[in-house]
Amino acid sequence: MQVHKYDVVIVGAGGAGMRAAIESGQRARTAVLTKLYPTRSHTGAAQGGMCAALANVEEDNWEWHTFDTIKGGDYLVDQDAAEVMAKEAIDAVLDLEKMGLPFNRTPEGKIDQRRFGGHTRDHGKAPVRRACYAADRTGHMILQTLYQNCVKHNVEFYNEYYVLDLLLVEEDAVREDGTAYKQKRVAGVVSYDLASGELHVFQAKSVVFASGGAGKVFKTTSNAHTLTGDGMGIAFRRGIPLEDMEFFQFHPTGLAGLGILLTEGARGEGAILRNSEGERFMERYAPTIKDLAPRDIVARSMANEVREGRGCGPNKDYVLLDLTHLEPEHIESKLPDITEFARTYLGVEPFTEPVPVYPTAHYAMGGIPTNIESQVLQDNDTVIPGLFAAGEVACVSVHGSNRLGTNSLLDINVFGKRAGLAAAKYARDAEYVELPEDPETYTTALLEDLRNANGTERVAVLRKELQDTMDANVQVFRTAESLQEALNVIESLRGRYKNVAIQDKGKRFNLDLLEAVELGFLLDMAEVMTTTAMHRKESRGGHYREDFPDRDDVQFMKHSMAYKDATAVSEGISGIRLETKPVVFTRYQPMERKY
Ligand SMILES: Cc1cc2nc3c(=O)[nH]c(=O)nc-3n(C[C@H](O)[C@H](O)[C@H](O)COP(=O)(O)OP(=O)(O)OC[C@H]3O[C@@H](n4cnc5c(N)ncnc54)[C@H](O)[C@@H]3O)c2cc1C
Repeated sequence: MQVHKYDVVIVGAGGAGMRAAIESGQRARTAVLTKLYPTRSHTGAAQGGMCAALANVEEDNWEWHTFDTIKGGDYLVDQDAAEVMAKEAIDAVLDLEKMGLPFNRTPEGKIDQRRFGGHTRDHGKAPVRRACYAADRTGHMILQTLYQNCVKHNVEFYNEYYVLDLLLVEEDAVREDGTAYKQKRVAGVVSYDLASGELHVFQAKSVVFASGGAGKVFKTTSNAHTLTGDGMGIAFRRGIPLEDMEFFQFHPTGLAGLGILLTEGARGEGAILRNSEGERFMERYAPTIKDLAPRDIVARSMANEVREGRGCGPNKDYVLLDLTHLEPEHIESKLPDITEFARTYLGVEPFTEPVPVYPTAHYAMGGIPTNIESQVLQDNDTVIPGLFAAGEVACVSVHGSNRLGTNSLLDINVFGKRAGLAAAKYARDAEYVELPEDPETYTTALLEDLRNANGTERVAVLRKELQDTMDANVQVFRTAESLQEALNVIESLRGRYKNVAIQDKGKRFNLDLLEAVELGFLLDMAEVMTTTAMHRKESRGGHYREDFPDRDDVQFMKHSMAYKDATAVSEGISGIRLETKPVVFTRYQPMERKY
């Protein structure tokens, strides 16, 4: 085992991690640990855009953006955080422009902007052009630009290093009101080097989690294979709560049967959803902004059309995204990649034929709770000194119960930057926390147990069963019965996971072993998502309970906080303790959510 010492360690080299590294790397000795090569991170798959109220092509301002974000999130958004994000959006885009990002331009040379779901002029009056973009490769451009700037600032990367544990120590502390509690402090992380199979311990004053989402919990998903919720899982296992995990976004336009994403930018550029009768059905569900309603509403409307028998195709199980009325040159210049996806994966020519689409699991609104300084919370009132999180792994709660399109690329830039600055500042003033004795004990046991198991179960089989049950029972429509069914399956899979067999017993490049580790995180995340969904007996944003179809602000206008706790049992669910956290309100009172 090797030990390294850095001021700041960043876990993840996606947009959030690299934006943090650019700030931290200029101020403190910084290492980025990433299980993928940086430019393979999922941020690079983002298509449609990153929003900011630049008002380059029509009137706009950050307050409208704040309001849209809060209403889009069905009022579960922490409004102080949404204000920060909408205000700092403008500089976030300009920072990227100065770093060299090739945005699409207007004829006058300004950054061009296009429409996206839920972004409106003057509190919902009409769609507004707020998304800055580089064709339908915005995330690719962001990731490349950030990587180049990390290289410029000599950030040190440890590529294909899987972080598997967070080292925390606990100290006795006393609150202002005189009550005693255990204060967690960060000492470092433990990682596994894929090439050598060796463990490396990184001691650090500050640790920033920027390890992305958990979309692989579902079968039909837009997410890359590597999005297995590692960061959330590591934090959860170390007693850090996870916030609002019941809220998972299903993006309306995944390629039917595959889940590969077609950006909402297509609808932003004028594409229309139609059912088997050729009807533009969104006119019924969201009369004002129609196909550009927020994603939860569009996804649910699509699923409803299919359920009511107006789906298309031989099995009537999808709807159509129609671009045929748009000029081919327009599509070519604004949406070149996604039209190619339709041709390659479905054999459909989008210039002349509508494209089969159905909702696909896309984005985790929940995650590791932070405040607006990106500091991680150990409970509602206490931060963990030296521990930060940003991006999809985190829940600062700017997205509430439903994220608006283009607000994630924004989130990773705004809060990635904040996390990098805060981590460097903390490291400047703080001392190292002593590493626990034998810091690698937990990780060694985790790996050796899996490597030495002589069971009969296969990782791929268990993962598929997990993903199948999540798609069938925890997707757009949920009921107590469907959630219970998913919990039963997860519990049985947990038992079988103990009996899993690893074929590859070797040390080098043992992906077989790491996929087994990742399956463990997926099982944890699926259980937290399903348990919190069971307890939220209302419908809000991305969480729709058919048995409780209305939003219930009296009982449920609060964040859920799930803690791992072996002693907790509630409604027959054990091992997870559920608490709540108040929503932060500044200016906007909850209203009925109509579009
Ligand atoms: C297909 C697609 C299109 C999208 N389009 C848009 C869009 O147009 N606009 C928008 O706003 N949002 C979009 N999103 C969402 C947005 O891209 C993501 O939410 C965002 O990029 C996440 O960035 P991140 O930095 O948090 O994580 P990621 O970019 O996913 O990076 C995660 C990093 O963590 C590392 N990592 C993970 N686990 C470990 C571990 N155990 N040890 C070490 N390293 C680890 C990985 O190596 C990776 O470097 C899209 C998402 C998808 C899937």
